[in-house]
Amino acid sequence: MAFEITFLGTGAASPTLSRGLSAAVINVDETLCLIDCGEGTQMQMLRFGIKKDRIRHVFISHLHGDHYFGLVGLLFTWHLHQRKDELHIWGPFTLKEILEIQIKTSVPNLCYPLIFHDLESLPDGVICIEKRFTVSKFPLNHRLSTFGFLVKETGRQGNISKDFIEKYHPDPETIRKIKEGSDYKTNEGIIIPHTDIVTPVRLHSFAWCSDTAYHPPVIEYVTDADVLYHEATFTKDMQWLAEEKGHSTTIDAALIAAQAKVHHLILGHISQRYSDMDEFVNEAKSIFPHTDVAYDGMRIKLRN
Ligand SMILES: [Zn+2]
Repeated sequence: MAFEITFLGTGAASPTLSRGLSAAVINVDETLCLIDCGEGTQMQMLRFGIKKDRIRHVFISHLHGDHYFGLVGLLFTWHLHQRKDELHIWGPFTLKEILEIQIKTSVPNLCYPLIFHDLESLPDGVICIEKRFTVSKFPLNHRLSTFGFLVKETGRQGNISKDFIEKYHPDPETIRKIKEGSDYKTNEGIIIPHTDIVTPVRLHSFAWCSDTAYHPPVIEYVTDADVLYHEATFTKDMQWLAEEKGHSTTIDAALIAAQAKVHHLILGHISQRYSDMDEFVNEAKSIFPHTDVAYDGMRIKLRN
């Protein structure tokens, strides 16, 4: 059981020896989501111990090559390995045509069901509902149609207080009902609200914003996220270039994190022109102190 994020590729545009291209895996209780799949993602999965057969959903933010050129290779590896489980791909509409051409020219059909969801025709908000989490999408501001994602766990219940159990000895059925929201009625007819019995749980969430220029409308979607991964392709002195290319600076990312009151900001999609990460992260920390720079293989565990 876990809610865990692993960053597989944290660089921009073209790979370097130290930074692969965009990809992250979110593991919610052993159901895995892959967000973006840049070239080399399969190698990064091997390097960082990702159980790729547990990936059920792939979300592609946009169709710049550094965010999806690794996808068709991954699809064919699953085919060669006789995958049986269905795979859901969520991406811009054109991705469906691109994949169909690539698949058709190689094999009549993949050996597993592939279900494509067109992000552009789905309304913003929750698009994917799984047993233990949901995924929402929202628009970013880049040079072509681009989406951010929020993975939020659902349905995890709090624990019944020890004092209550010792005093009233509830049976398992009563415990189940209280956890689901029922109040408890004592033998004397006194109603005890379930909020006095069950300890509240924090439902964790992870937000992905790459690629995008500074775009305050995302704040309503990522507010209070435990972890916000936000691109910061450039430092603040390159603001002009960030605006020209539809990217963010360290300051842009920190401003979004501060306004959204997230708990932890992770900067990614780092241009290969930067090597001094202390200087890089300090720019963002001047606005949002709990900031780190992503690195390939970085793993964040929000709960066990
Ligand atoms: Zn892009």
